[in-house]
Amino acid sequence: MNILVINCGSSSLKFQLINSESEQCIAKGLCERIGIDGSKIVYTPAGGEKEVTVTPMADHTDAIRLVLEALTNEKTGVVKNLEEIGAIGHRMVHGGEKFSGSVVITDEVIAAVEECNDLAPLHNPANLIGVNACKKLMPNTPMVGVFDTAFHQTMPEEAYMYGIPYEYYQKYKIRRYGFHGTSHSYVSKRAAEVLGEKYEDLKIIVCHLGNGASVSAVKNGKCVDTSMGLTPLEGLIMGTRSGDIDPAIIEFIAHKENKSIDEVMAILNKKSGVLGLSDNLSSDFRDLEDGLADGNENAIRAMKTYCYRVAKYIGAYTAAMNGVDVICFTAGVGENGPIVRTMVCEYLGYLGIKLDEEANQKRGKDLEITVPGCATKVMVIPTNEELAIARETARLAK
Ligand code: ADP
Repeated sequence: MNILVINCGSSSLKFQLINSESEQCIAKGLCERIGIDGSKIVYTPAGGEKEVTVTPMADHTDAIRLVLEALTNEKTGVVKNLEEIGAIGHRMVHGGEKFSGSVVITDEVIAAVEECNDLAPLHNPANLIGVNACKKLMPNTPMVGVFDTAFHQTMPEEAYMYGIPYEYYQKYKIRRYGFHGTSHSYVSKRAAEVLGEKYEDLKIIVCHLGNGASVSAVKNGKCVDTSMGLTPLEGLIMGTRSGDIDPAIIEFIAHKENKSIDEVMAILNKKSGVLGLSDNLSSDFRDLEDGLADGNENAIRAMKTYCYRVAKYIGAYTAAMNGVDVICFTAGVGENGPIVRTMVCEYLGYLGIKLDEEANQKRGKDLEITVPGCATKVMVIPTNEELAIARETARLAK
C-alpha cells in the first residue's frame, strides 16, 4: 500500500509517499510560505530531478491539492491516480494524556486533538488544518494520526510531575509530556534490531539532536523519562531554544529589559540556545564546528555548554534506569556531528565508553562507534520519522 505521510506546520507542509511493503520512499517534497506571498512547492520523485514551482497557495487545501497533482502528474508523477494512495498518515504534535498510541482519525479524534490545542498552540491547530484539508480532497481515504507525545505516555508519575501545586495538574494537566516520540521509539527499536538483542531486555538512552533536541530513557522497551516537558522548550540546549533554565530568569529579564512575558518567551524560544550562547554566531552546528576549528571563543563556549548538558542528561538517565546498555545519537547533529559525539563521550569514561575514532567519522548508516568490548555501546542510528509514521498508518489502516 502507498502511504502519504504529511507533516503540516502553520505555513509549511512536508510530505513523503512511502510504499509500506518495500518501505521505500517513492516521492517527497515540501510546500513553503502557504498563505504568504511567494509560496512554492518542491517535489522530488525517487531517482528523479528536484522540481521547484513558485505558485500561489491560499491555504493548506491548495497546498495539498498541488501535492496530489504533483504525485499524479502524467510526466513526473509516481502514481496513476489517487486510488493508488491507500492511506494518509499525519504527524500530530500533542496528544496530551488522551493518546498513548496512534489512532485512525475520526471526528471524535479531531475534537480530542482540538482539546489539546492549548498545550501546543503553534503546532496542533496546524496539524488539524492538514487533516481537514486531506479530508476535503480525499474523503474516502483512511487517515491515521501519529503523535509526538504518545511514546512518552509510559513515563511513571515521578518522571512526569513537576514540583508545583498539584491543583495545576488537576486543572490544566500541567506535566511533562515529551516530544520527538516517533523518533525516540524508532531509533531505540532499531538499535536493538541492529545489535540483535531483545528490545525488552535493554536500557537505552536516545539523544535526538536536531534543531530541536531531546534525550529519552527507554527501559525494557518503554520510555521512562524524557527531557522535553509540557512544551518543547525544556531540557537540552537547542539551536535557538534555551532548554533548562532557572524559571526566575524570566522575571529577571522582563524587569531589567522592560519586556512582557510573551517577549521573554520569544527570546527563550528563538534567540537562545547555541545561537544565543555563541553571541549570535549561528544556530547551525556546521558553522559552530568551523568556529571551533578556528578557535572562535563564541563557538567554543556554545559547543562546550551544549555537550556538557547532553552528558549531564545521560548521567541522569543512567541513574533513572540503574544503568545503560546503549546510547544512541540521531537527527541532524547526532547523525552528522562526530565532534559533538566525541565531546559528549569524553564525559562518559565512567560508563566504560571508548570511541572508535574511525567509525565515528562515518556517516549515513546504523553503526556502533565504540571499540569492541565496551560495557556501554554508543551507536549512530539515523532517524526516519516518516517511515515510522508510514508503518503505523499501514498497521492501523488495514
Ligand atoms: P529539525 O529539528 O529541523 O528536524 P534536523 O534533525 O534536520 O532538524 O537537524 C538540523 C541541524 O543539524 C542543523 O541545524 C545543523 O546544525 C545540523 N547539521 C546538519 N548537517 C550537519 C553536518 N554535516 N554537520 C554538523 N551538523 C549538521
